[in-house]
Amino acid sequence: MQLHGLHHVTAVTGNPGLNHDFYTRVLGLRLVKKTVNQDDTSAYHLFYADKLGSPGTDMTFFDWSMLGANRRGTDSIATTQFRVNGAAALNYWVERLMAENVQHEGISTWAGRAALRFDDPEGQRLMLVDDGGAPYEGEVWDGADVPLDHAIRGFYGVVLHVPNLDRMAILLTQVLNFAELRRETLPTGEALIVFGMDGGGPGREVHVVEVRSGGRANLGRGGVHHVAFRVTDDAEQAAWEQRLARVGLPTSGQIDRFYFKSLYFRVSEGILFELATDGPGFAADESLETLGERLALPPFLEPHRAQIEAGLKPIE
Ligand code: ZN
Repeated sequence: MQLHGLHHVTAVTGNPGLNHDFYTRVLGLRLVKKTVNQDDTSAYHLFYADKLGSPGTDMTFFDWSMLGANRRGTDSIATTQFRVNGAAALNYWVERLMAENVQHEGISTWAGRAALRFDDPEGQRLMLVDDGGAPYEGEVWDGADVPLDHAIRGFYGVVLHVPNLDRMAILLTQVLNFAELRRETLPTGEALIVFGMDGGGPGREVHVVEVRSGGRANLGRGGVHHVAFRVTDDAEQAAWEQRLARVGLPTSGQIDRFYFKSLYFRVSEGILFELATDGPGFAADESLETLGERLALPPFLEPHRAQIEAGLKPIE
């Protein structure tokens, strides 16, 4: 039994307007869903993805402006990696980020691939990784001014910082059936292991760095709340739920998020994983053509639309 790659990454913003501008205009992603946090309807939940809202492409944000700034550290989902197609795409992004006054670290090598590191406006660490032209199941968004050949093609993976690499390795390989693909020592002296699910490669990797010093991260604006991995359907999710129960990892039980069904479990104090079904998807309540244009509410919140809309600040 294998997970099928990243499904989504959810992070925290304190400034939905700035966040929307950066992820849509600068990074060229499509806002595929503008909804509210189902547990706190005064806060937006924004989903940026490819043209189709394909699983494995959505970067989502909770609007939690009451939180302080994220404190980086160990025991966290430290970096979100997107994939782009080839060296020409990375070169394009160097120029584009410079033109937008986004500081970046130049093209370097990460886990054997060319990569470009930078931060979003609230300090979330991002990385574009050259996917070597690997097949891409989705369809890039053609509504931004990024040339289609250079557009972001969903996630490459995530980088976890953990205080104890062996402990995380056991969990990923023995419980979640990831395979160890690569092991190296970073220039900083820290150990990095690349783990892959379903064979690994773009969209199917988790990179784990052992970071022992500097203290633990504290989630805030600009930090990542959780990463979700793909399961095909309810039956596969239920099988994982049973497996997690067998090894004594407590889970949330299945939660219906309307666009997909979720199962959450904490793999450490600071790192939350989710297993999310591929369907029904973002076109469940809107047409593909108009995704994200109006505030979408799941049926159980629809009766409260007027009150919810009154409590939200317009984004644009
Ligand atoms: Zn999630």
